[in-house]
Amino acid sequence: MLGIPSVHERVSGILRISSGISEWDILVIGGGATGLGIALDATARGYKTLLVEQSDFAKGTSSRSTKLVHGGVRYLAQGDVRLVREASIERGLLHRNAPHLVKDQIFIVPVYTLWDRLKYTIGLKLYDRIAGKLRLGPSVFISKKETLEKLPGIRSTDLKGGVEYHDGQFDDSRLALNLAQTIWGNGGTALNYVQVTGLLKNDKGSLCGASLMDMETKNIYEVTTKAVVNATGVFVDDILQMDRPGSDKSICVSQGVHLVLNKSFYPSDNALMIPETSDGRVLFAVPWHDKVVVGTTDTPVAEPTLEPQALEKEINFILETAGTYFIKKPQRSDVLSVFAGLRPLAAPRKGEQKTKEISRSHKIIVSASKLFTILGGKWTTYRKMGEDMVNRIEKELRWGHKKPATATLHIHGYHENANWNDPFYFYGSDADLLKQQMNGTANIWLSEELKIHRSQVKWAVEHEMARTLEDVLSRRTRALLLNAKESRRIAPEVASIMADVLGKDEKWKEEQLKAFDQLSEQYVLK
Ligand SMILES: Cc1cc2nc3c(=O)[nH]c(=O)nc-3n(C[C@H](O)[C@H](O)[C@H](O)COP(=O)(O)OP(=O)(O)OC[C@H]3O[C@@H](n4cnc5c(N)ncnc54)[C@H](O)[C@@H]3O)c2cc1C
Repeated sequence: MLGIPSVHERVSGILRISSGISEWDILVIGGGATGLGIALDATARGYKTLLVEQSDFAKGTSSRSTKLVHGGVRYLAQGDVRLVREASIERGLLHRNAPHLVKDQIFIVPVYTLWDRLKYTIGLKLYDRIAGKLRLGPSVFISKKETLEKLPGIRSTDLKGGVEYHDGQFDDSRLALNLAQTIWGNGGTALNYVQVTGLLKNDKGSLCGASLMDMETKNIYEVTTKAVVNATGVFVDDILQMDRPGSDKSICVSQGVHLVLNKSFYPSDNALMIPETSDGRVLFAVPWHDKVVVGTTDTPVAEPTLEPQALEKEINFILETAGTYFIKKPQRSDVLSVFAGLRPLAAPRKGEQKTKEISRSHKIIVSASKLFTILGGKWTTYRKMGEDMVNRIEKELRWGHKKPATATLHIHGYHENANWNDPFYFYGSDADLLKQQMNGTANIWLSEELKIHRSQVKWAVEHEMARTLEDVLSRRTRALLLNAKESRRIAPEVASIMADVLGKDEKWKEEQLKAFDQLSEQYVLK
């Protein structure tokens, strides 16, 4: 079993819920950053915890972020010092607890006027001060020459210099997976492909359990629990409706899009931060797995879906904005992948109209039946959100207080000396075991370009709870997001390896390929 979850864990987890003999302390609905953070906090305090995710871990927003573990320079500009302080502390803790995934990343703001030089130098010094001891590195003004050396490919006309600062950069779906593994490792249960289809109440009208559907077999189970947490991101209102039909809408949804480009458009290891785009947002170009991720946008969306679509105007906006900064202007045909994600924002307070102005801090609401719902937040603050939620449950249900334990808890894969040039760096402490399984085939790649090896597919199924072709190509490896066409090319071979390991037949393979074909088309720009 190698001390990490295996393919058998899902079977044992389903057995735990199907036997009906156990009563859970806390049931968490939703396997994104928020739900995983809550379930890990609860497990680490010793509560008997079950997390269920209707699809794969991080299938929703949590695999579609800008990949930043950051204090939030933009929130500072908006005067939200409390949020910046909280996020900066969390950034430091995550860097300590998951050093195999969270990288200290240099960002540079190119400045083209003397006023901007003054504004960003002072602003970013303040950003450092707010983080205190947990800052990653100091902010400094750098000359035009140094800026051009550190940001080759950037427009030099009128350039006055740059302001360099530090934030964190990570791999979102890999962290989600590592959190699920840490929950298992600490005695909790975290299951993908299990959906909550109904809530159960006792004769006093208080929640006491839920109906769960195993999405693979369609079997339905009822579980009993002392507390139910709704951590379903943009879907929180669906669960609130299950609890009390006719409930008011609690969130509004805003879409953000990213384009992935070859590094030739931005040949730098330093990230670029454009602090004010034409629509008043921040745009980043962030090096990631040997490509560059550029984004994002902020477009209100009426109805959330699990697979949101980038709009033409969002794609054009990113290409145009990047084109005004990059010497080599990217065209549609240069885009390797386009992905969209939905921000679950707590419904605005009076006077806040645009979604970019709505605070990113989280909010907990408790219904009359004691459904605990969490709104808003950021990937960066997932740990604090977990801690706040479990504190609130303890208080509301009068459980007494158990000491939180996640501030110093190492995340699965913890490894101090990450070698960011190793294509398997994101496996952390699992990398050696994975490499042992390559049996002298270490340089024979399924995808030479994306550095994806056959052993990774087997590993994903056997140790990382991957159940579908999409799980492997989108969230265990990041092939779909890094180069959608390349992910389509290797899909048949990945499906064959998975079918062998899972003991599936040709029909399963065909279904998987068909579903992935439809999905991946949306990530390719025509
Ligand atoms: C474009 C964009 C860029 C961002 N960039 C950053 C960034 O760089 N850094 C940062 O810190 N934050 C960033 N964020 C914010 C961050 O990504 C989100 O706050 C976070 O991922 C939200 O996680 P979540 O768990 O609340 O939601 P989700 O990840 O969407 O998870 C909710 C889950 O609930 C599941 N679910 C729904 N209904 C049910 C049910 N009935 N039963 C079981 N499961 C169910 C869904 O399938 C889903 O997987 C970004 C957000 C966006 C949109």
